[in-house]
Amino acid sequence: MYSENLELSFRVRDQLLSVKTDYQRIDVFDTYDFGKLLAIDGTVQLTERDEFVYHEMITMMPYYSSKIVPKSALIIGGGDGGAAGALLSLGLKKIVNVEIDKQVVEVSKKFFPSLYKSFKNNKVTLEIDDGVKYISSVKEKFDLIVIDSTDPVGPAEGLFEQNFYSKVKSVLSPNGIAVTQSGSPFYQPKALKMAYQGLSATFKYARPYCAFIPTYPSGFWSFTMASDVPFVNNSKNVKPGKYFNQDVYTGALKLPQFVKNLIQGPDTSDKKKKSSRKK
Ligand code: SAM
Repeated sequence: MYSENLELSFRVRDQLLSVKTDYQRIDVFDTYDFGKLLAIDGTVQLTERDEFVYHEMITMMPYYSSKIVPKSALIIGGGDGGAAGALLSLGLKKIVNVEIDKQVVEVSKKFFPSLYKSFKNNKVTLEIDDGVKYISSVKEKFDLIVIDSTDPVGPAEGLFEQNFYSKVKSVLSPNGIAVTQSGSPFYQPKALKMAYQGLSATFKYARPYCAFIPTYPSGFWSFTMASDVPFVNNSKNVKPGKYFNQDVYTGALKLPQFVKNLIQGPDTSDKKKKSSRKK
């Protein structure tokens, strides 16, 4: 878990599955406290008990920050179906979900049917492909692009690179918003830095925000959204979820000082900000 001296452990009733796919190892456990848990390469992806936090925060924050009412979305990763489900509940009309590993989808179908069910909705198209490859060839534009990926190692490495963010920009509607999960600021500062610096070098505006996710390392997680138009606060119109509400919208954008320091490391976009402050 990011350090050989640390462990995140769950007491389990049973191991329900362990499979090695072409891309990664997938495990499903039946835990005592969190229901079924999906892990990829030994890293928690979701649990039945707290998945709502991640899925609401990766979709509702950009949705309620958008100048336009988003109608279409592209999800990269997200093979469990949770992000697609959250977007459907926001009323999105068209969702394309690109997952690299068809076995993640199969596992979700068998063990997490309440998340998988979004793939049965005719507003959702599931593509089994590498998101980096897919985004290079897609012609249409999307109002939201949600990068619901694993950590920046293995198949997801390319999803944190600036070259990929430029492709994201080319398929984002002019008023659209892209968002990525950007890891634990405490244990994975590099993931947040890569995401923030890559997105702020590509788009005019980039904003990290945080959420409390009990089963992710440190429980404190970050996401970063980006756009070429300023973010708008539409949260007064929010229909509260289980985690998300108007107060959470405002609070999630307030960053602890160590996170501010982290993203203000040396990079081109920050140099621009520092020099404009001096004037
Ligand atoms: N909630 C999660 C988290 O932050 O731990 C992410 C969950 S979702 C299961 C992540 C998915 O991203 C995995 O199913 C993985 O196969 C997929 N993925 C990784 N790299 C990808 C790529 N290059 N293109 C498309 N999907 C990818």
